[in-house]
Amino acid sequence: MDKKHIKALRKIVGEDNVYDDKAHMIAYSYDATRTRYEPDAVVFPRHEEDVSAILRYCNDNHIVITPRGAGSGFTGGALPANGGIVLGFEKHMNKILEIDMDNMVAVVQPGVINMDLQKAAEAVGLFYPPDPAGQDYTPLGGNVAENAGGMRASKYGITKDYVMALRAVLPNGDLIRAGKKTIKDVAGYNIAGILVASEGTLAVITEMTLKLISKPKL
Ligand SMILES: Cc1cc2nc3c(=O)[nH]c(=O)nc-3n(C[C@H](O)[C@H](O)[C@H](O)COP(=O)(O)OP(=O)(O)OC[C@H]3O[C@@H](n4cnc5c(N)ncnc54)[C@H](O)[C@@H]3O)c2cc1C
Repeated sequence: MDKKHIKALRKIVGEDNVYDDKAHMIAYSYDATRTRYEPDAVVFPRHEEDVSAILRYCNDNHIVITPRGAGSGFTGGALPANGGIVLGFEKHMNKILEIDMDNMVAVVQPGVINMDLQKAAEAVGLFYPPDPAGQDYTPLGGNVAENAGGMRASKYGITKDYVMALRAVLPNGDLIRAGKKTIKDVAGYNIAGILVASEGTLAVITEMTLKLISKPKL
């Protein structure tokens, strides 16, 4: 990638949030398929506006983008097979924004680790059931983009059963909001449902509203 693009990306997200050194290229080159493709840069957006500006810039300049969680997927979706930039959310976009007790939902950023949400929900008597085996280290953005499920699936369902709403950025930088935090959200297409399991091919997910249930009594 031409150095002018690195410079432009640093202008968008700041010096500290764009890396093109060899160590980062190796660290962000793999997923659980054990295949490796090095990106040209790794970029850590600070917020949704950064994601939008990055995607707009990359779209205009024909630079490939690969969103990445923990790189634990078995589909190859997190591999930057055509170079370009890897987008990481673990540095900044890793917050539980809200646990809404009235509507029994959590609003989270893509870099929140699954187990951290489980713990936060259980601390207030609620429960987030999807428990993929990598629940201790995989972020919810990757879980949603892969529609992950674990041992509790047969009783409680999988990630798609808990996605109420999403915010996401389209390849041209436009922001979309899909779904609502209320159960009776019946109008229109189920766009949030299309983004679940889309493996980063349709949009970059920037915020998720996830259904919580009452904590089961053991
Ligand atoms: C040891 C192990 C155990 C596993 N156990 C299970 C299991 O029990 N159940 C199960 O379902 N799966 C399991 N998996 C695979 C599972 O898909 C992942 O663990 C997890 O859901 C992927 O999360 P990740 O953040 O690592 O995704 P990554 O591998 O980083 O990315 C996966 C896909 O999501 C996309 N993506 C990531 N973040 C975003 C975003 N913000 N917006 C748009 N796209 C995005 C990527 O581009 C890529 O296509 C396991 C994997 C491992 C290695």
